[in-house]
Amino acid sequence: MNIRSSPDVFDKLALIGDANHYEPAGDRPQSERSHTWRPDDLRSCISHVTTPTGKKPVLKSMSTSACEKNCNYCPFRAGRAGMNRVSFTPDEMALAFDRLQRAGLVDGIFLSSGVVGGGIRTQDRIIDTLEIIRNKCHYQGYVHAKIMPGAEEDQILRAMQLADRVSVNLEAPTARRLEALAPRKDFDGELFRPMEWAAQIRQRAQAEMPGAIRASLVTQFVVGAVGDTDLELLSLSDRLYRQMGLARAYYSRFNPIPDTPFENLPAVSARREFRLYQASFLLRDYLWDVEDLPFEGEGNLRLDVDPKRAWADLHLLHQPVDMMSASRQALMRVPGIGPKTADAIIRARRETRLKDLAQLRALGVRGVERCAPYILLDGRRPAFQMSLFD
Ligand code: SF4
Repeated sequence: MNIRSSPDVFDKLALIGDANHYEPAGDRPQSERSHTWRPDDLRSCISHVTTPTGKKPVLKSMSTSACEKNCNYCPFRAGRAGMNRVSFTPDEMALAFDRLQRAGLVDGIFLSSGVVGGGIRTQDRIIDTLEIIRNKCHYQGYVHAKIMPGAEEDQILRAMQLADRVSVNLEAPTARRLEALAPRKDFDGELFRPMEWAAQIRQRAQAEMPGAIRASLVTQFVVGAVGDTDLELLSLSDRLYRQMGLARAYYSRFNPIPDTPFENLPAVSARREFRLYQASFLLRDYLWDVEDLPFEGEGNLRLDVDPKRAWADLHLLHQPVDMMSASRQALMRVPGIGPKTADAIIRARRETRLKDLAQLRALGVRGVERCAPYILLDGRRPAFQMSLFD
């Protein structure tokens, strides 16, 4: 990877490395963490990100890794010793991106930042960088920008005009949880209000000037460091999906970082993060209510079973879904049947009687053995062999 006509800026990019390791930029968050960090290697800040227009190598970086906030989980928190802090001017970052992009090494940028001089000034630096990328470098591809805590409404509007996606990271599901995670962040004023502004900007644009705003809105939660429950996280996610048109909630499991106040807390399991994503998709794509999700007593999902299957075990084993007459919504309650396969089943049953699992397999139902215990075909439960795997 040799494009270093301006060594200083590329050295800084390599030094900052995978600064946004825990911040997903695209649609397959967990796959973005698969590469390993190599000190001083520019490849460390390039992630393969699934975007609405396909999988791309994306530069994930920060305008600065200095920060005046002191979030208890964060490697960039104020005062953490042993950090090599680096900062980029908007010109530096934009032109470095331009060179990487013209060399074919990246096609997209995710730009975040530590907070220096307040959220408003920091947001200005991000916007200035995006202005150069869009208007001087004429880059039309994927741009994902972070909205800083305390950003102003006009700044959010401009960021949403320039980016394809903006993140307002709430980090925690309630003000009380945020206080324990990030003592210098104000949940309502600095995070939730900007989130509401971003949602209103999108809604207004859709009603008055479709196409004027192309940015979707996402958020991220740090999971499991301060006693937050799945119920809290998914209740807020559901509200954001329904009321604010949130495109996606990211769940980033807590991992302790040395020399931070949370260094001795246990890491959260990848399985918990995975179950949160499964449940979140049921809320967003299958239109489940939070009350439908099978939480255990303390407000968390079971780790050992997919939440859709856990629900089906409780509700469908004794009341199976008839494939010939069930509504689309009822079909989508069955493990293995999603929106597309439900539509395929409805189309097929207008033409023919669905009598066996092979027909469902041909219609695209994945792992028909998974759905067999919960359905009726031709008025009967189909014969099936129980799968040993969830
Ligand atoms: S605001 Fe908090 S999470 Fe963001 S870089 Fe600063 S310390 Fe880290």
